Amino acid sequence: MKITEHLFYYPWESLTENNCNSYVVWGRRKVLIDPGHLHLLDHLERGMRSDGLSINDIDLVLVTHPHPDHFEAISRWAGTSTMVAMHRDGKIFLEEFARLWQETTGKTLPIFPVDFFLKAGTLKVGEHSFKIIETPGHAPGSICIYLERDRVLFSGDVIFARSFGRFDLPGGDPLQLIRSIEQLLELDVEILAPGHGPLVKGRGSVKENFYLVFALFQQMFAQENTRI
Ligand SMILES: [Zn+2]
Repeated sequence: MKITEHLFYYPWESLTENNCNSYVVWGRRKVLIDPGHLHLLDHLERGMRSDGLSINDIDLVLVTHPHPDHFEAISRWAGTSTMVAMHRDGKIFLEEFARLWQETTGKTLPIFPVDFFLKAGTLKVGEHSFKIIETPGHAPGSICIYLERDRVLFSGDVIFARSFGRFDLPGGDPLQLIRSIEQLLELDVEILAPGHGPLVKGRGSVKENFYLVFALFQQMFAQENTRI
């Protein structure tokens, strides 16, 4: 569904199966953020088709972090001219995971093609300008992506509407996560576009959501300390 002149939102709404929200930034160059699970990619294809878009027209796929519910479907573009980009730390994490997996199970995981690495700074793709922000804490190599023209922040699994990303998975770190969220506060955000759940719309609501999340985080740590 179209949410701004250049931005399409494909929310994942099933309660029985997990997948991520996907976003498409459209223009002369077409950019997809987080394709999700491979076996659920038809959900995105159908959604795009109903907006008159085709998954074959995507020029670049950006991955917010190396969890399968966000990146797995990148293998769909292997051997095509569509480029795939993620943070170097995310790729290293995947390679390490694949190595351990093979050692313990004897099975090989697919190698996911990544054409170039994302790092903090500006990424220009055709007429689009994205600010890449390094936001570890939920997963190694986690990034948030800020679309300057539309003031949209794609926050992956760092911050959601009224919630924040978990930090108990391999490579997670609560202090890194809260520092990552703090970094995002300086951005002028009109739409918070998270990796799961609904959008947060309006500058005031986005700010309010940030403060609510800080309060939740503090509350959680206060509880942890009293338990000790
Ligand atoms: Zn995740």
